[in-house]
Amino acid sequence: MKIEEFVSEFLVCPECKGRLEYKKQGGEESALAYILVCPNCQVYYSIKDGIPILLVEEAGTLNPGRGR
Ligand SMILES: [Zn+2]
Repeated sequence: MKIEEFVSEFLVCPECKGRLEYKKQGGEESALAYILVCPNCQVYYSIKDGIPILLVEEAGTLNPGRGR
């Protein structure tokens, strides 16, 4: 099973329990350049050493213009 399939089958957003999208970040070819995006919450979760960090506190926002 490919990681993309694994992600969409088993991993959900800890905030809204919605599906996560496995995406490549920027243009880097490194394995560290992958993130999990929640389109509902407009946040992303990073992947460290192949392990997705699915913590609301660790999530990054896709809209840095909002808030402060
Ligand atoms: Zn979400």
